[in-house]
Amino acid sequence: MRSAMIRTLIGAALCGAVATAQDAVPSAAAVLRELKAGNDHHTAKRYQHPHQTAARQRELTATQHPHAIVLSCADSRVTPEIILDQGLGDLFDVRVAGNVASDIELASIEYAASHLHTPLLIVMGHQRCGAVTAAAESGEAEGHLPSLLALIRPAVERAKAQPGDLIDNAVRLNVENVVRQVRGSTPVLAALVDGGALTVVGAVYSLDTGKVAWLPDGQTKTIARLCARSPAITY
Ligand SMILES: [Zn+2]
Repeated sequence: MRSAMIRTLIGAALCGAVATAQDAVPSAAAVLRELKAGNDHHTAKRYQHPHQTAARQRELTATQHPHAIVLSCADSRVTPEIILDQGLGDLFDVRVAGNVASDIELASIEYAASHLHTPLLIVMGHQRCGAVTAAAESGEAEGHLPSLLALIRPAVERAKAQPGDLIDNAVRLNVENVVRQVRGSTPVLAALVDGGALTVVGAVYSLDTGKVAWLPDGQTKTIARLCARSPAITY
């Protein structure tokens, strides 16, 4: 009990006030609809720029209720607030090259899902990802890169058995792997997913068109069965 309270206080100190169970939590389906509409704004370059006023900034000084977590690549061209037309306090961003999920990223996702009650997690890869490309190349990586690339290599190995573009397929399979990993992450995230409090959706962003391709749910849930015959992404 005491350790749980300490964990809560540490979490609150790190990321602002903790949402209470009484706060209204939107459904994951409603949030996903809004994010899809936001991406339509981006592709049409007709942004609504929601929640970017001084009033919104003031509203968020003591608390936050982000309606989606986005685990996306750190690539400068894949900025969640812009490509989904969102504003301050809307998205809990976890960004790392190759949108992988090590313990550090999982801990951030756990904080948002369990303490802020964020109902939706998007795992977002993107076209021509440099991290995925590096994982597909032979040769020695420098510095700390090998530990990052090791997390992506299983997707690359699966992609080699598929027809079509190696990097496109590896990007998609890497997203699917991370979706599966997050859904099965014990003890926190798997329990939230099983209890219906967290929905995890995979997505791939096109640098060419600005469009987000949302991966079919059945595909990400059953990757082990389907990875050998996953359809190519169409943006
Ligand atoms: Zn990338």
